[in-house]
Amino acid sequence: MNKPRISIVVGNGLSMSFGHFSGLAHIWNSQEPLSWPIKCPSQIHNFLDSLHRLKALHDKYIDEPDFDVFAKTLDRAICRQLGLDPFITPLEARHFLTIAFSHYSNEQVKKLNICKEWSWYRWFKLHKDNITSAFSLNYDLLLESTFDDIALQYYSLQVNHHGYGIPLVKPHGSVDFEIHPSSISYSPEYPLTNFVDLNNTPIIRLDSSQLIYPRSQPLCIIPNESNKYSNYQWVAPANQWFNEEVSKCTHCIFIGISYFECDRAELDSILNEVPDDAQIIIANPSPPPEFMEKVKGRPVMVWNSYDGPIDSKGNVFGLKDIKTGNLLRNCFCRSGLSYQYCCGAKL
Ligand SMILES: [Zn+2]
Repeated sequence: MNKPRISIVVGNGLSMSFGHFSGLAHIWNSQEPLSWPIKCPSQIHNFLDSLHRLKALHDKYIDEPDFDVFAKTLDRAICRQLGLDPFITPLEARHFLTIAFSHYSNEQVKKLNICKEWSWYRWFKLHKDNITSAFSLNYDLLLESTFDDIALQYYSLQVNHHGYGIPLVKPHGSVDFEIHPSSISYSPEYPLTNFVDLNNTPIIRLDSSQLIYPRSQPLCIIPNESNKYSNYQWVAPANQWFNEEVSKCTHCIFIGISYFECDRAELDSILNEVPDDAQIIIANPSPPPEFMEKVKGRPVMVWNSYDGPIDSKGNVFGLKDIKTGNLLRNCFCRSGLSYQYCCGAKL
């Protein structure tokens, strides 16, 4: 039992890191999805032209950041003021984000095939036998594609899945999640003629070649929205399974997590499960001050390079002895960190 057991918690920073490394960020700015060239899956025109309510809000607040426009879809007073249905408007935002990030995921997969020098890809590959659980707030499939490539099995409680591997919890939804076809049967199309949202049903996993099509019910929490899926059958048990693994971890790594107000309850409940002597690693070029405050008094390491989990010579930060695969020796100074990343690093 002296091998590392690593839990990972992933936010948008992982996708941003890949976007910068691969060059994808030049064409697909993940902060501006409303400007992406997304065609409607069931018509030939621009997708936004099929989502009249979201488009009306976008036109009205054209100078505001896209994520503020998405936040306004959740503001019932603003929707009513503009004559927009406060139930259908956020539903349109969910459909847009699901299809837009499906395109984005497809682009990521294409790039990943030629970007295996990406530092996080190398890091995951080195630690694939040590990663015991994962939690991702992202809709895209970058983590899944990386895991597929290094043959690390994972499972998110989809009823059509083989069911092997580590828990991968995606509590805010994912572009490859869809409600089970027998839950609600109809032929979805855009513009929407049926308004199906927020049903707690079993989910299936979509094949990566089948992502660009109208969803029966998009599974996607809007940025700034508190998690309406937290008690759903594919979230609550997955969270419980993940937390059981976290409670046995030796390291918990938070990669590119912003610690936004709306995500804090979920992140805090993970932190509560992390054993006192486990090392917490915050991988973020700008670690959020509130999060740093939250982990104060614990063994904490910060990886703040824009280049990811590598040192100035390009070597991956390993969390195990390369020869034996065992845990690194803890520092004599009782910081709770490994010697080579504590006093050993200062020699
Ligand atoms: Zn030390």
